[in-house]
Amino acid sequence: MTTVAGRAEEHAMPQQPEHVVVVGAGLGGVRVIEQLRAHGFQGRISLIGAEEHQPYDRPPLSKQILNREWEPERATLRNRAALEALGVSVRLGVRAVALDGTGVALADGRQLAGDTVVLATGAAPRKLPGQPDGVAVLRTLDDALSLRDALDSARSMLVVGAGFIGAEAACAARRRGLDVTVLEAMPVPCERVLGRQVGGLAARLFTEAGVDLRCGARIDRFADEHTVELSDGGMVSAGVVLVGIGARPELGWLDGVGPGNGDGLACDANGRVLATDGVWALGDMAAWRDPARGRFHRHEHWTSAVDQAAVVACDILGVERPAPTVPYVWSDQFGLKIQVLGRTDLVDEVVPLHGEGLDGGPVKGTLVGYFVDDTLVGAVAFGCPAKLVRYRAPVTERADRAAVLALSGSGARLV
Ligand code: FAD
Repeated sequence: MTTVAGRAEEHAMPQQPEHVVVVGAGLGGVRVIEQLRAHGFQGRISLIGAEEHQPYDRPPLSKQILNREWEPERATLRNRAALEALGVSVRLGVRAVALDGTGVALADGRQLAGDTVVLATGAAPRKLPGQPDGVAVLRTLDDALSLRDALDSARSMLVVGAGFIGAEAACAARRRGLDVTVLEAMPVPCERVLGRQVGGLAARLFTEAGVDLRCGARIDRFADEHTVELSDGGMVSAGVVLVGIGARPELGWLDGVGPGNGDGLACDANGRVLATDGVWALGDMAAWRDPARGRFHRHEHWTSAVDQAAVVACDILGVERPAPTVPYVWSDQFGLKIQVLGRTDLVDEVVPLHGEGLDGGPVKGTLVGYFVDDTLVGAVAFGCPAKLVRYRAPVTERADRAAVLALSGSGARLV
């Protein structure tokens, strides 16, 4: 039988933490703080960041900052005054080196004792074996500023990896008039995200912009910081070499935390780190359980970090979590925006919905639907953002093929 006291407990607000320690002063860390305060959390918040800079946004690094359209300050997410206004105690330029329960050890020897910890330490660029130090990578503001300077005085650039960051860097180099070579191991750029057929459209953006794109290329070794040797014996040299082959989650400092560090720290569908108490993780470092697929998935996209921050804050405070959103990522390449909505991996069929790109016509204006079992699970748009908006609800609701074709008005050409 429930007692009066028991009933009162059932209806009480969930217990709030006293001190939330957020490790990682990037997008995920800042957004979770904003969400905690937006939900009325009054307790202490501490923010730890390894970099000296005020927390900043990364997408502009490979776009506006590399192109000299923005000075670095414009990419700031929240400056020190704004964080103080949120009641956050900020420690920048110091790395967290260990986590013991909910206590965080810092590289300067200090300890922070929270009762709740949020991990948002992002990811670090993957490197190739034997990669010389003088070869550029692009993850941090400092990386972007030094690459920007190097491009200003170079005549040629070699990019290893035709993913989104490699493509945006190649684009910045072409804008400056450099000769650009891009080496990609897969048959097309971004095959994992776009698939083979649509990746072919991304490839056309490179070649139509005058980039020497070489897919299926294998690098044997670096001869030096300007030259690579390919497995077919060919050598490629450039004034600036950038390796953009993805990123690995920043987990090195979390030895023994969670159930074993695979590709991302394993968390449940609310971001709680498995096999821990009072610890959440989000963003590029975290692999959240994907209920739809029954496995863990690490998203490395801006919107995912923002969406996850909202879920984590609600879960910490015990308030209702926001409605699920569909994944979304964008990239600005060679004068147009590529937008990826929903899940475009592991699909059965790709169907052109607008534009003639897949038939050899202009890439710009092409919009493609991704189907599983005749339902729409994703869409990719090349330079037609207004059209993509129309597919957000159908992707979210997993509309059937007939409804999608009616929406696109392209039923006739698909018969
Ligand atoms: P981050 O923003 O990387 O923040 C992690 C922070 O933790 C960093 O500041 C790091 O210094 C700090 N840190 C690391 N280790 C420690 C430690 N031990 N102690 C304390 N602090 C630590 N996504 C898109 O959807 N569209 C885009 O166009 C796009 N462009 C991008 C361009 C670039 C150049 C890059 C690098 C990424 C881009 N992304 C883009 C991805 C997006 O920016 C990331 O998914 C997002 O920043 C992830 O946020 P995060 O908080 O997980 O990691």
